[in-house]
Amino acid sequence: MAAKNWGTDKEIDYFREYLRIPSVHPNPDYEPCVEFLKRQAENLDLPVEVYYPLDKQNPVVVLSWEGTEKEWPSILLNSHMDVVPVFPEKWTHPPFGAEVDEEGRIFARGSQDMKCVGMQYLAAIRALKAKGLRFKRTIHISFVPDEEVGGRKGMMPFVSSEEFKSLNIGFSLDEGISSPTAEFPVFYAERTLKGVIFKISGSAGHGLLLMPNTAGEKLSYITSKMMEFRASQLKRLKDNPELQIGDVTTINLTIVDGGVQSNVVPPLLTAVFDVRLSLDLKVSDFNSFLVNLCEEAGGDIEFEFTSKRRNDHTAPTVTDESNPFWMAFKRATDELSLKNKLQVFPGGTDSRYIREVGIPALGFSPINNTPVLLHDHDEFLRVETYLRGIEIYKKIIENLASVES
Ligand SMILES: [Zn+2]
Repeated sequence: MAAKNWGTDKEIDYFREYLRIPSVHPNPDYEPCVEFLKRQAENLDLPVEVYYPLDKQNPVVVLSWEGTEKEWPSILLNSHMDVVPVFPEKWTHPPFGAEVDEEGRIFARGSQDMKCVGMQYLAAIRALKAKGLRFKRTIHISFVPDEEVGGRKGMMPFVSSEEFKSLNIGFSLDEGISSPTAEFPVFYAERTLKGVIFKISGSAGHGLLLMPNTAGEKLSYITSKMMEFRASQLKRLKDNPELQIGDVTTINLTIVDGGVQSNVVPPLLTAVFDVRLSLDLKVSDFNSFLVNLCEEAGGDIEFEFTSKRRNDHTAPTVTDESNPFWMAFKRATDELSLKNKLQVFPGGTDSRYIREVGIPALGFSPINNTPVLLHDHDEFLRVETYLRGIEIYKKIIENLASVES
């Protein structure tokens, strides 16, 4: 097959230009993204604002398309500008080259996660504007920094800023995950990150003794109970093929630390577990479990959470007739005959900050029949998948921005 000239599509050119900006961790430089997005705003004839909710190194860029009903709550289309690091020697194409191969695959870090989505929002709006359309609700398209390392310099401070409040957002769209099958996952909730650090004190002394209450015995008890809990969740998954990883609690021992010398029983050992609570497990119940566990293990054990965020689960986004935005989204994907699957996001995205301030949010990336290569080597997206995604967003955006008040 002769290589097709993919460069003839203007939208593909914009996408590849954005992919070539190496806004990569650690220490990404976002200024070239800001400059690029300002040019996009000019091309689209839309106003653009740059906010700095934390510091000058971490800009939030917002383009806005005003609706006819200016007072109505707006629609937010969010994406992050940052990408995860690369190991170029593991790639068959340069990770920031955005090369297109003969099969029409665009290779670049961010091609799936998630520079595609940000550019598809803009491409869809460019097409809708070109048709002379205008909608009732204002649409804001935001590009945020720092998502890949937790959003503490991006969406987290942004949602509590006056600038964010003044956008008057009623509903938000953000990233999902690519799908290797025909189905499109739609994420309406996220698990609660509740990593635990145990600081286990015990009697210290010479290693030739058999002292009571050593930190090692207590660590052994705690680890065995945590692993029992882990096994119970694994069993839930095995017993019910309907369940996804986001539906259960995950527990993994990640760090064990302490000790000074091989023949000295240490006064303190530390153990860290990565824990993500399923929606059906209350933080308060998990906390009681940990309090009991520390007592049963012999006491003199302190624990704290790796994340100091709110203790409650953030309410999932409602996906029934009572949420007109969900109904508008679903109508769009139904009309396009897309197969949706509602899921709980297994990791964390910026949507959790949006939901925390009470705004309904869905996670969706219009990428199906594509291997999941987020954070992987040779991340790519097919030209045809990208262009199809623009068509999908045109319908979704039109429907969302037309929801009656
Ligand atoms: Zn992402």
